[in-house]
Amino acid sequence: MITEEQAREHIVDLLEYIGEDPSREGLKETPDRILRMFSEIFRGYDPAQAPRITTFPNGQDGIVYDNMIVDSGSFYSLCEHHCRTFFGQYWFAYLPNPKGRILGLSKVGRVVDYCASRLQVQERLVQDVVQMLTEALGQENPPLGMALILKGRHMCKESRGARKSGEMTTTYLTGAFRRNPQVRAEFLSYIK
Ligand SMILES: [Zn+2]
Repeated sequence: MITEEQAREHIVDLLEYIGEDPSREGLKETPDRILRMFSEIFRGYDPAQAPRITTFPNGQDGIVYDNMIVDSGSFYSLCEHHCRTFFGQYWFAYLPNPKGRILGLSKVGRVVDYCASRLQVQERLVQDVVQMLTEALGQENPPLGMALILKGRHMCKESRGARKSGEMTTTYLTGAFRRNPQVRAEFLSYIK
């Protein structure tokens, strides 16, 4: 187990390695700032900080909802190959089980943020999010399908290396979204 002080010293070493003078005024607080930032952007390694995912019995509000529910938003993560940011938009959808449970929808964004707060590849990030949300809805009467699309810009590709802008798209589809082209087409029609 590495201590905070050891980690701090390694950051100082890295600053020196890139040609900096870690003792100059502007950099004095930088190792501590980086450590504080790490505890925020890498909180996805800490199960104690996992979001609580509230769910409700379908029908609790007097209606049983059995159509598609879609949510979208932004995400920020770090690629595990270069420790550079990749970021973009997500689109999530699911088909609730009429006898199952409904997700508190603000939770989707929280789960995306939590799973994105560790070194990732976009291919795994889609899976991590869908798995966590699937587990939250329980084994008994699981949702009839889930879908997640991520479109991300990767700074390791845009600001260095290939130096080409562009978006990477990854998808993860389960249940009806995987099997039924009509369900999939409805989901895709929301992504504009
Ligand atoms: Zn990368």
